[in-house]
Amino acid sequence: MNTSAFYDVLVIGGGASSLAAAITAARAGKSVCIVERDVACGLKLLATGNGRCNLSNESIDPQRYNHPAFVESVMGPQPEQELMGFFSSLGIMTTSEEGRLYPRSLRAESVRDALLNVCDRLGITLICGANVASAHKASEGWALQIDRPARALKAKKHDDRKSELRSLRKALADVPRKNEALEAHAVIIATGG
Ligand SMILES: Cc1cc2nc3c(=O)[nH]c(=O)nc-3n(C[C@H](O)[C@H](O)[C@H](O)COP(=O)(O)OP(=O)(O)OC[C@H]3O[C@@H](n4cnc5c(N)ncnc54)[C@H](O)[C@@H]3O)c2cc1C
Repeated sequence: MNTSAFYDVLVIGGGASSLAAAITAARAGKSVCIVERDVACGLKLLATGNGRCNLSNESIDPQRYNHPAFVESVMGPQPEQELMGFFSSLGIMTTSEEGRLYPRSLRAESVRDALLNVCDRLGITLICGANVASAHKASEGWALQIDRPARALKAKKHDDRKSELRSLRKALADVPRKNEALEAHAVIIATGG
């Protein structure tokens, strides 16, 4: 019988916004699963800020956006403090350059690693290399069918990250796949632009 794993929150996409949303939901006591189609979560983060990740700014002024009222309603009256509080809760200390905030390590990896470590500590399930084949409303929320690698990806060890990533993506293209059913009360789509 094909039984479904059930989560309070299922997040489609494993980028920065997904990891932050998943952490927020898990901290609120929800069970969370992230479904990412690439070989790992947070890969785009590694390229941000020229590899240093400009994670926020000292001043975030809603008036600089096209729809200030909407931006303020989403970000609240003190977005700078909220963002700093969130990053500090992940264990990320920041440094500032011309009003731009970076992790003190000046390495984007440390931001990605901190997000993934906290996901791990909170028991968030990460399913990578997976495609969502279908999604429909169910009595308890949403029912999804995904297809995912049938076994862990094996790739040659490389000295540099780019070669290792290429090797993992090749392994993903070649690996046998299996279908899996997932259900969730709520689905967040965070698949980027
Ligand atoms: C070169 C570069 C430098 C940047 N520098 C900065 C910076 O310093 N500071 C800053 O704030 N922003 C920066 N940005 C912008 C920043 O990268 C994006 O705003 C941010 O990554 C958006 O995060 P996201 O989670 O919304 O999307 P993404 O990071 O794009 O994540 C989306 C994820 O969803 C996955 N996905 C997509 N479709 C599916 C699907 N159907 N099923 C499952 N998974 C799916 C993707 O594989 C991806 O992992 C930079 C962008 C670039 C390109």
